[in-house]
Amino acid sequence: MSFVLATNDDGIHSPGLAALVDTVAGFEPVVVVAPDRNRSAIGHALTLDAPLRADEIRPDVFAVDGTPTDCVNLGVHGLVAGKPRLVVSGINRGANLGDDITCSGTVCAALEAALMGFPAIAFSLDARDFSVEDLARAADVVDYLVRYVLVAGLPSGVFLNVNIPSGPIQGISLTRQGKRHYGEGIVHKTDPRGRSYYWIGGGLTGFEDIPGSDCNAVAASRVSITPLRTSLTSEAALEKMADWNLSLSLD
Ligand code: MN
Repeated sequence: MSFVLATNDDGIHSPGLAALVDTVAGFEPVVVVAPDRNRSAIGHALTLDAPLRADEIRPDVFAVDGTPTDCVNLGVHGLVAGKPRLVVSGINRGANLGDDITCSGTVCAALEAALMGFPAIAFSLDARDFSVEDLARAADVVDYLVRYVLVAGLPSGVFLNVNIPSGPIQGISLTRQGKRHYGEGIVHKTDPRGRSYYWIGGGLTGFEDIPGSDCNAVAASRVSITPLRTSLTSEAALEKMADWNLSLSLD
């Protein structure tokens, strides 16, 4: 069976996932394997020390008590016969721009798929509360790009991080990863039993103005498509470091 595998990190009941699945199901069979709850900011985490349960809540729709990366593994290797033509993740509640990508379960689900050799796209919508209009516009972007990638394919080791602005869309751009600014937001408080607790989560304070970046594109109400690599190696640094005089004496 040929199918598109869909997952997310906001959980199986997210309206963003429903919009993604409904759109792609209009032209391709879709298998959904998604976390049974919100696992946002879980990054590329893989569950190795506990069993995973996959509950088929509807035909070809599986809720898993694991991470997005677990879901990609189960969707590719275990739950259904055949392999996906494409793996899609999202539509995430909130943009995944700049520094966000290594924290993002949405993006790392696509990373996991790319590491396994499958073309993959992560979709995020720059809104915390999805309006019907925003979701409809995002669904149009999904429709366009999924069809495009199914025909054009993707280079080996490359996956797409797609961010969709809220409000009317002014265009679509290929971008590079930018730089978001977060406040130094560790909140320290005391619980009712007198113990300290800490809450990470400084609010977003802006982004660096980098022409051609994902942040700039979305701020200009454009859809941002960043091709990301599975390898984090810096080829430029390897060249620069070639004259490092490294040696270890190991006795
Ligand atoms: Mn999320």
